[in-house]
This record gives sequence, structure tokens and C-alpha cells, in this order.
Amino acid sequence: MIELSEVTKVYPGGVNALAGVSLRIDPGELVAIVGPSGSGKSTMLNVLGTLDRPTSGTVRIDRYDVARLSDAGLSALRATRIGFVFQQFHLAAGVRAVDNVADGLLYSGLRLSVRRKRAAAALERVGLAHRLDHEPHELSGGERQRVAVARAVAGEPAVLLADEPTGALDSASGAGVMQLLRDLHAAGTTVVVITHDRDIAASLPRQVRMRDGRIVEEVHA
Ligand code: ADP
Ligand code: MG
Repeated sequence: MIELSEVTKVYPGGVNALAGVSLRIDPGELVAIVGPSGSGKSTMLNVLGTLDRPTSGTVRIDRYDVARLSDAGLSALRATRIGFVFQQFHLAAGVRAVDNVADGLLYSGLRLSVRRKRAAAALERVGLAHRLDHEPHELSGGERQRVAVARAVAGEPAVLLADEPTGALDSASGAGVMQLLRDLHAAGTTVVVITHDRDIAASLPRQVRMRDGRIVEEVHA
């Protein structure tokens, strides 16, 4: 599904954010990537999700070698195969929940009415059937993150990548979002959760521990 081999990422200024990372994630896994702030977790997610290219090493997604794809090819791969969830939700302000989710399906070429139907179904799946017409400012933090998860999975991506999805939430809402990710995993989605929270990581079946841009330990529950 996803394979990193000897991946490095050096940012301008000489920061070695990834210092040689090899990792394989199989279809259907639920994986935590855990480590302290600055250990390279977000950089790894950006590389895994083809938002950023590595400095060296190879990244394969669904057997495609990312280095061999053009930027347009990468965008298409990303739009059809990968769903993203971020700490700060990244929803469009002033846009109803159903349209925030429907806009995530723009690449599909489906008609607006069909996109809205799929968006409503995705929102129902995350427990927000009663919030379709609410704008982000009319939703709680936990509900906003559920909308973001609905947007990420509405196109039925092969893999869901979540970067600190509970980082901006109180513990009860965070637990709800984690349960939602577990439910999606149980229904067949491959899920990668980045977290600095050791308890959250310890609750998942596989933990990849990072420090200083390297994988330092793997734990299987
Ligand atoms: P984490 O998500 O684990 O907190 P990051 O992947 O965000 O870690 O960052 C890893 C290292 O790379 C840090 O030292 C950070 O300061 C640096 N870094 C991250 N993004 C950039 C960037 N765009 N330019 C320069 N340095 C960066
Ligand atoms: Mg980060």
C-alpha cells in the first residue's frame, strides 16, 4: 500500500527532518506514528501523502513510484487514493458542512447534486446527519473534526492520513474522533494517525516511534 525506503528530507537551512526512514504499511492497517514535537512526524506524513517530495529515497503508493509521477499525476493520485485530516480541521469558513464535504469530491467530476448526496452519506457515517446545514462556526471542535473526517473519506480513499487529529480537541471529543477512526479501520480503510500522545498511540495495534527524524522503535500490540 505505502512503502518508504531510506527516505530523507532536508529542509532549506540544512534541517534533517527525515534522516533515513524505511517503513511499509499494508492495506487495512491502523498505525500510530508517535514521537515528540520536532521528531519529523508531519514531514513523514507529508511525504507519505505526496504533499512533499523526499530529498532522497523512494516512496511507493499503490505500487506507483512517486518520483516517476508528474505533479499533475501526484495530484490525481492524492485526490483519488488519499484522505487527509489535520489538527486544525482546515474547513472552509462560511460553507455548510455538506458543501465542505462535497467540495472534497470536486476532482471526481460528479454533478453537484450527486456530490451533495455522497457528502450527506459521509456526514451520516460520522454521526452528523443532523448538522448538514451548519457552518463551521456553528459546530463544536469535535463536530468540525468529524466533518473533516467525512470530507477525507467521502471519496473512499485507500488510506486516511491524520496529523494530530485530536490535538485541538478536549479529551472527550478526542476520544470520539479516535473511535471514529477505529470504526473506519474496522470497515476496511487503512488509517495512519500521527500523534505526540503516548496514550493514544498505545491504544492502536501498531506504533512506529520516531525521534530526530528516524524510526527508533516499532511496537505491535
Ligand atoms: P513533528 O511533526 O514531529 O513535530 P516536523 O516534521 O514538523 O516534526 O519537523 C521536523 C523538523 O523539521 C523540525 O526540526 C522542524 O523545525 C523542521 N521543519 C519542519 N518543516 C520545516 C520547513 N518547512 N522548513 C524548515 N524546517 C522545517
Ligand atoms: Mg507535526
